[in-house]
Amino acid sequence: MRPGEPEVLIPEEEILRRVGELARQVSADYEAAGELLLVGVLRGCFIFLADLSRLLAIPRRIDFMALAAYDQEAASSGAVRLIMDLRTNIEGKHVLIVEDIVDTGNTLEYLMNLLLPRRPASLKTCVLLRKKERLEKDVRIDYLGFDIPDLWVVGYGLDHMDRHRALPFIGVVKTD
Ligand code: 5GP
Repeated sequence: MRPGEPEVLIPEEEILRRVGELARQVSADYEAAGELLLVGVLRGCFIFLADLSRLLAIPRRIDFMALAAYDQEAASSGAVRLIMDLRTNIEGKHVLIVEDIVDTGNTLEYLMNLLLPRRPASLKTCVLLRKKERLEKDVRIDYLGFDIPDLWVVGYGLDHMDRHRALPFIGVVKTD
């Protein structure tokens, strides 16, 4: 490993096994729903959403939203703004938000507040990683991949200053 390269926190096989389990759970829960709309939150979700959506055994559509923290220097300062909205009208649809990571919970709370008034038939959340000890908001996660410690993680779609997104594992970088 080169100096400064991420150290493995969750290996690729473990991620894929867990994503398979989540897909089976989601497929079973929505079997009677007709169709599920997966809403990916860019950019970090793109690999998780790609893997999850291909493992689902139910009819599904995919749409994306893009959000950004107001303060780019501190991604978790709290304030979030919408950069790209959905193309889909979600009224009457079963919607599953697919998020890479929940830290303080601000982003997920913002999304729920944005989407609930659009009157979806149901609105649930599927999150790969949660930093439990950092959570400030009482946001509901219906499907969770892993709880992780309070570390800056990269890989499997997640970045550090736009690097490391394509790593197949979840790794840790030193951010000092
Ligand atoms: P929140 O605090 O609103 O729950 O999370 C804000 C956003 O910060 C997440 O959606 C994610 O984009 C980013 N974030 C939080 N923790 C990490 C981390 O450890 N690694 C990366 N790459 N992004 C993170």
